[in-house]
Amino acid sequence: AINEMKLTFESRSANEGFARVAVSAFVAQLDPTVEEISDIKTAVSEAVTNSIVHGYKDQIGRVYISARIYADSVVRLTIRDTGCGIEDVQKAVEPLYTTCETGERAGMGFAVMEAFTDKMRVRSTPGKGTTVYLEK
Ligand code: ATP
Ligand code: MG
Repeated sequence: AINEMKLTFESRSANEGFARVAVSAFVAQLDPTVEEISDIKTAVSEAVTNSIVHGYKDQIGRVYISARIYADSVVRLTIRDTGCGIEDVQKAVEPLYTTCETGERAGMGFAVMEAFTDKMRVRSTPGKGTTVYLEK
């Protein structure tokens, strides 16, 4: 990587906007298009929101972001939490799948991350936490 940054913050919803803006400010050095910036912001928002609302459902924990920029202008991001983890990742990433019972979530977060980036990988261990890898 030709440049790297790391970010740690508490899983409070107020920090979602902070994470989105911080990542977009960092990747701005690649001179991305407005659309590319917007795609990255959208994907990061979904991952961070998931850590906050699902990973740390009834508690406050830490969310870790790392962003790496490569010479070919590729950006690799990880968004990680040490929350509850996901039992079945394959099922969780399916569009419309949600464990939310109140009807306020669409189950589209992972689908959005996949659509707005070039690559998405999810690694999760129940009881240990979740890491989302995004590449753009
Ligand atoms: P939406 O994102 O549309 O508001 P959603 O968050 O339920 O709804 P996804 O973001 O696609 O949908 O996530 C699917 C499911 O995967 C979630 O309902 C949740 O059960 C699980 N999940 C996602 N991220 C995490 C995480 N960081 N920790 C624990 N569970 C997660
Ligand atoms: Mg979501």
